[in-house]
This record gives sequence, structure tokens and C-alpha cells, in this order.
Amino acid sequence: MSRRSFLLNAGLAVGASTGAVILPMVVAEEEKKYTGKKLNIALCGLGRYAGYLAEGLESSEYCRLSGIITGTPTKAEKWKKQYDIPDNNIYNYQNFDQIIHNSDIDVVYVVLPNAMHKEYTIRAAKAGKHVICEKPMATSVKDCEEMITACKDAGVQLAIGYRLHYEPYNLEIKRLGQERVFGQVRLIEASLGYRTTDPTQWRLKKALSGGGPLMNVGIYCIQCSRYVLGEEPVSVTAQFGPVTNRELFSEVEASITWQLQFPGGAVANSSSTYNCTVDRFFASADEGQFELSPAISYGPFKGKTSTGELKFPEINQQAAQMDGIGKLILENKPLPAHITGEEGIKDLKIMEAIYESAATGKRIALV
Ligand code: NAD
Repeated sequence: MSRRSFLLNAGLAVGASTGAVILPMVVAEEEKKYTGKKLNIALCGLGRYAGYLAEGLESSEYCRLSGIITGTPTKAEKWKKQYDIPDNNIYNYQNFDQIIHNSDIDVVYVVLPNAMHKEYTIRAAKAGKHVICEKPMATSVKDCEEMITACKDAGVQLAIGYRLHYEPYNLEIKRLGQERVFGQVRLIEASLGYRTTDPTQWRLKKALSGGGPLMNVGIYCIQCSRYVLGEEPVSVTAQFGPVTNRELFSEVEASITWQLQFPGGAVANSSSTYNCTVDRFFASADEGQFELSPAISYGPFKGKTSTGELKFPEINQQAAQMDGIGKLILENKPLPAHITGEEGIKDLKIMEAIYESAATGKRIALV
């Protein structure tokens, strides 16, 4: 199967199982047929992940890298040459709002430290640009609400960079769980972590990150527990791990473990950590099990079920994500619910409850 036909099939399956958010301002206009024009993306923040996105955009069918927003003039020069970006499409954080006058840019993709997502999403929306914002959507539920309101008021779409909704192995565990291929899932174990050693990293500064490994990578474990079960957790319990290095972890947790209780009776146990490498998903259902490891990172993924090995094409996740989002925006169709701001805020609510439970030792109700 070609990457394109795979993605179109995957898009249909995902759409069918979750439904789509109907955004009044989007459906009010007539849906357009895809004309061959590519959607023009400006990347805001040129760090490590922006590099992955730029690479993905090079092989995207529906999107292309057309602009950049950066605070570092040397990076602007380098990216301009490497990606053939016209001077008119290069902004810094001060003159960014002038993007309102630039009809060459359709979408601003915010790839900045977490605490900056809110400001740049709102500024992009006010400039009339659709927004893709990296995960976590923001560092508080309140900020997420303001971002959703700003995009609604401006009549632009807001997507969160949940790349795994376009990744074949993760689409498969979602199908296995939601279609109850092995019966009702009773237990999920999903953990993600890596070892952090650089004390200057913004991820260790609470004002920029909003929290430690939970905010950064634990969010993926929450996501996959929710999309495999197709349910929302009703309560959460959580525990901080030990502070293993006082210099590194003076502001954010070094590790955290939590348990999500779901209405169908399933429990999801997860840990996220900056102390060691872990990247796995396991589900046990009434009539079998399924698992992935690696499960969440950039791959190559590996997985098996009680009946055999899982084998899917390795894809460029960033290209797949950009194509999935880009085609819908080009056709003026609403984005599916599971990648919108309304999805991002659900994860923030759960993460706030996890931190509250770890801090108080109490079970926190989510409904
Ligand atoms: P990074 O540190 O590599 O890049 C951050 C960028 O922000 C840099 O270009 C830096 O110059 C710029 N910046 C502007 N103001 C800054 C400030 N005050 N402090 C620090 N940097 C500042 O980080 P990254 O790994 O590219 O992460 C950026 C965002 O992308 C984060 O929200 C992260 O969660 C997300 N991300 C997502 C994925 C994914 O798989 N979806 C993977 C990695 C990162």
C-alpha cells in the first residue's frame, strides 16, 4: 500500500471511530476540493523538533515550509538558505504580528517551549492564521481555554501536534482496544522516559516547561491509554519518584507514576521519568494481550499480540501528520476531534489531577 493510500485509509478509520468536531466557522463556508495547492506553513521556534518537522515537510504532499519565526538571526540565515525561504516570510518574536499582512503563510506551527505555546498561538490566531501547536498544548487548563477561545474568535483551526494519531502501530493498538479484538481491555501499562543530564535545559525550568517528564513525555502515556480504551478516566492516583539529583531536579519532578481508573473497569499504570530509558505499551484484555516497544518515540516500532507479530510500514511521522492536517485545512474541513485543542485540554486536565494527587496523596476525581 502506498503511504498516501495508507494515510487516507487510516484517516477514514480514525474519523469513523471518533467522529469529528464540527466547527461552525469552518463548515459555514463551502468545503473545497483539493486543488493541488500546498498549504504554506511557518515554523515558530527553530529548535530540535522543528528540524524533524522541516524534514517531514520536505516529503509532505499537502504542505510545505514557507516561513520561519526565530529570535536568532544566524538560524534565520541558515534556514533561509537550506529551505529557500523568501526574506518576506522570515519573522522574529518582535515583528511576528506583521504576519497578518502575509498571504503566503496559511498556518503557524508553534514549536517553542511549552509555556510559550499560549502567547504564540493567540498571536497567530489574531493574525488570521490556522495554528498547529506542539504538545503539551500549554502548561495549564486555563491557558488552553484562552487558546481555544482565541482561535474560535478568529475563525481559525487549532491542531495539537499529536503525531501518533497518524502512526500505523499506534493506530493498530487503538483499533485492537476500541474494537475489542481481544475483548475488554482490563490493564494497560504505558511508560516513557529518558535520561536527562543537561542542567541548562528549559525542560528542567518550571516556568518554561510547566513540569517535568509528565508534561514532556508522560502525556503520550495518557494519550495512548485514552485512545486504546476509547474512554475518559474517572479518577487518578499518583506518586512522585525520589529526587535523584538535587541540582537537576530542583524545579520539576525527576519521575512520576500514576494510575488512571476508567469507567469500563480498566486501570492504566504509567511512569514517566528523566532517570532512565523506557518506551513501552502493554494491554491485557479478556482474551489476549497486545504490546509495543518502542511504542511512542520516533521508531522503528515493534509490536506483537497474543496471536503474532505486528508489522506495519515505517513512515515519516511528521510528514504523515502534516498531510493529515494539511489536506483537511486545504479543503476547509474541520479537523478530527482527537487532534484539536479540545483534545489538548483533556490531557492538561488529567496532568493537573496527576500532580495534585502526587502532591496530596489523594485520589482525584476527574468527572
Ligand atoms: P528545543 O529546546 O530544541 O527548541 C526550543 C526552541 O525555542 C529553540 O529554537 C529556542 O531558541 C526557542 N526559544 C525561544 N525562546 C526560548 C526561551 N525563552 N527558552 C528556551 N528556548 C527558547 O526544544 P524542542 O525539543 O524543539 O521542543 C519544542 C516543543 O516541541 C516543545 O513544546 C516540545 O514538547 C515539543 N516537542 C514535540 C515532539 C513530538 O514528537 N511531537 C518532540 C520534541 C519536542
